Amino acid sequence: MGTAVAEIRIDQRVSRFIGQPRKMLIGGKWMEAASGKTFSTPNPATGDVLARVAEGDREDIDKAVKAARKAFESGPWRRMTASERGRLIWKLADLLEAHLEEFAQIETLDNGKPITVSRAADVPLAVDLFRYMAGWATKIEGNTIPISVPYTPGARYLAYTLREPVGVVGQIIPWNFPLLMAAWKLGPALAAGCTVVLKPAEQTPLSALRLGELILEAGFPEGVVNIVTGFGETAGAALAAHPDVEKVAFTGSTQVGKLILAAAAGNLKKVSLELGGKSPNIVLRDADLDVAIPGAASGIFFNHGQCCCAGSRLFVEHGMFDKVVEGVAKEAKKIKIGPGLDPSTGMGPLVSDEQLARVCGYLESGLAEGAKAVVGGRKLGEKGYFVEPTVLVNTKPNMQVIREEIFGPVVAAIPFKDVDEVVSAANDTIYGLAAAVWTRDISKAHRIAAELRSGTVWINCYNIFDAALPFGGYKQSGWGREMGHDALELYTQVKAVCARL
Ligand code: NAP
Ligand code: MG
Repeated sequence: MGTAVAEIRIDQRVSRFIGQPRKMLIGGKWMEAASGKTFSTPNPATGDVLARVAEGDREDIDKAVKAARKAFESGPWRRMTASERGRLIWKLADLLEAHLEEFAQIETLDNGKPITVSRAADVPLAVDLFRYMAGWATKIEGNTIPISVPYTPGARYLAYTLREPVGVVGQIIPWNFPLLMAAWKLGPALAAGCTVVLKPAEQTPLSALRLGELILEAGFPEGVVNIVTGFGETAGAALAAHPDVEKVAFTGSTQVGKLILAAAAGNLKKVSLELGGKSPNIVLRDADLDVAIPGAASGIFFNHGQCCCAGSRLFVEHGMFDKVVEGVAKEAKKIKIGPGLDPSTGMGPLVSDEQLARVCGYLESGLAEGAKAVVGGRKLGEKGYFVEPTVLVNTKPNMQVIREEIFGPVVAAIPFKDVDEVVSAANDTIYGLAAAVWTRDISKAHRIAAELRSGTVWINCYNIFDAALPFGGYKQSGWGREMGHDALELYTQVKAVCARL
């Protein structure tokens, strides 16, 4: 880790924002928790307290749901035209863009990620998502349907469908892309005309709270978006179980996804889940290694491996294995590790001490079971939550490091002999979020893409996201799709109207 730190100067607006305890947004007002409690969010680069925020719990969730219900049933939101709704979302995008640097700094301070990444990816992608969804507000349509009704011979009907908002929605998001995950969730919900209670992750509540300020500034009616900060086991669980919430959308671990599903059973609320992954990244012998090697490295090391779609199982065809492993290890060594606020940092700290302990636990278990670290394998430094980018070899299919999501900068490289073998090994997981294939053979690439059981397949690229491209999981990686027009399905329901003429 570099010792000379040339950190950027923190924007005054950011210092002011983090300098005082942040309240929650309920019914258009900033409020303290009913209990008066607060909790701290640390700066992962140092472990020091960064800011304090209100610790919402059941009572606050209840207040927020009531505000969202009122906004949905009787507020101006209900009476607004689709075009007006779209313009508000667009305005939010404009405001966010105007505050790009401020949001990038908040994100880097709270999450630890490099400022270059917050500036180039997190904030611009969130802006783009809001713009994309703003356009959809006026394009959510039903159909007219010719019906025949055999038991009313001779009768004529006009039958059509209306695509209506689901209603009051609870959204629970993780810490790996805090602002972007808020955008992925809020964008389609607002385009569809729902009202929302959003619970950010306890590790990274700040950018969502700042976004709440912009939501008010944009002119969204009170209660349309409510933001309750707090812990998953209390505030999150209360939201998932709330009897007046009609849909819950969750991104996070598969384990908690199952708890959300159980909590939602009480009132059979609709559920969408974007969960974990153990994504296979497949390098065929004929791949262009000048692209595939850095691609494989960034597929796992981007965002410190804290991506649900991280390419954590790197399958390499025999004959190329040593060369690819050596190349990826070399890329890992090149990464400059340091605080996110240093613009030359390529990898910052993990988000929390808990996450650091989890990743280190996986490294220990892998090494104890006989895996070998070609590079990395350890925690880094004494201050902050840093870990070395790691390439493991000599793994076995039943090892924990192969079966479970590590959510850190740790890749296992695995050799394979032929396409059939690699497709079945790649699919040998409970997950199915993303996958990639690197090859010059276009037919082979598409054949493999068809056989991989995952919601996204990248060919000769990795981590390519766009607001228009649906993202979500097969198998235990989730239910439903975020982004693209598919996301609107999650926030609308169909009403069939039938009139006898
Ligand atoms: P997590 O517990 O699944 O947290 C995700 C969100 O769910 C957070 O807002 C969390 O709140 C909330 N939550 C936790 N328990 C809840 C409950 N019982 N009811 C309702 N909401 C609840 O994830 P984590 O503990 O931060 O990380 C654990 C692992 O999850 C990671 O190592 C990684 O494997 C995976 N993960 C996946 C993604 C993804 O994008 N798919 C993102 C993050 C983590 P609090 O954080 O406030 O407690
Ligand atoms: Mg947690």
